[in-house]
Amino acid sequence: MKNEIDLTVKPEFIGDYKDGYPLISKESVVDWNMVTDEGTIINLQDAKENFIVKGYYGIQNKGYGWALSYNADESIDSTYFAKKIKSAIEYRDSFFKDASTTAFRVFNGEGDGIGGLTIDYFDGYYMLTWYSIGIYELKEDILEALKSSVEYKGIYQKKRFDAKGKYLDDADDFVCGQKAPSPIIVKENGANFAIYLDDGAMVGVFLDQKDVRKTIRDTYAKGKTVLNTFSYTGAFSVFAALGGAKKTTSVDLARRSLSKTQEQFRVNSIDSKTQDIIVEDVFNYFKYAVRKKFLFDLVVLDPPSFARSKKHTFSASKDYVKLLKEAIQITNKNGVIVASTNAANFSMMTFSDFVFKAFKELNSKYKVEKSFSLPKDFRVTDKFKEGNYLKVMIIRKIK
Ligand code: SAH
Repeated sequence: MKNEIDLTVKPEFIGDYKDGYPLISKESVVDWNMVTDEGTIINLQDAKENFIVKGYYGIQNKGYGWALSYNADESIDSTYFAKKIKSAIEYRDSFFKDASTTAFRVFNGEGDGIGGLTIDYFDGYYMLTWYSIGIYELKEDILEALKSSVEYKGIYQKKRFDAKGKYLDDADDFVCGQKAPSPIIVKENGANFAIYLDDGAMVGVFLDQKDVRKTIRDTYAKGKTVLNTFSYTGAFSVFAALGGAKKTTSVDLARRSLSKTQEQFRVNSIDSKTQDIIVEDVFNYFKYAVRKKFLFDLVVLDPPSFARSKKHTFSASKDYVKLLKEAIQITNKNGVIVASTNAANFSMMTFSDFVFKAFKELNSKYKVEKSFSLPKDFRVTDKFKEGNYLKVMIIRKIK
């Protein structure tokens, strides 16, 4: 049994923890000074030393730790982690059986019972992401649990420790097993993606958008001109092109996005020369497009929740209305805007208000045709609503 430390919860927070709220906040605990090392197993209790919940201490931008078990006698060891991982894998049974999609999330933090840890699957390879030093300290038991629960070709990891959510030290992304080809080609609903498991911060595709990409390909792309802003490796453009788009234009300010996007087209047998890939600040591009009176049938907006470029600072919660207004102006009548955000600090309701406001200010009219939150493999718990950060609306511009 690991050394565990008892901590006292302030009375006003006890109810939330008893109800299953999984995030342990700094302000809810009286005596953090009792614990020094991240990764320590902590037992939250009331002032009378009655047990409430067991968790671990690990500092993330969101809080100071995560709840793990409501059983005071539970030992947080490889057996415990294996139980969680096995149940997560069972929940994704249909994903493992579907040969048309070979990349998906197998473990989604608190949604699967362990905040601060995600595990993604890429055609036989597993990628763990550690969100705090605390969870990383539990690495040995977690790896043992993973290895005993799955058949794997290889295991990789990403560390996202610091408060700003930056990725640190990608020198040791490879953990064990076989090394993956670089890139490894995975499938998503029949399309291909080139994925780099060992190449810095991001692997090349955001798996949480799979349902949106499929909808664009299957329902919205045929014969359309498509503008994909904040396009990264062009995943939305690839799906639009596969769906028969007349032409796609991808805009991202990162220099690397050009070759990365060409590559994603290439692995799908699309000649990237037939598509436009522009390395530029989206906000400059909008000005240019408005001046040139460009109009697109389909505009995808998927900005980061916060970004700073040379000339612009963008914050989704403050600037999304402005972004939408730019997009509306270059969308054809009866055209469609796919508005997406992964900002966890506002709700779908607020996001709908942004859309309402943007159209109203331009005296334009719209209809929301579809909306999306996280897909099934990004399992969330209703005890932690903030965990369902993705919000996507497919909006038709009527006037
Ligand atoms: N929509 C993408 C993911 C976007 S990630 C996808 O589906 O895969 C955010 C991207 O926004 C990054 O690639 C970053 O380079 C880009 N970005 C951030 N600020 C930008 C700006 N002002 N103009 C253009 N691109 C920007």
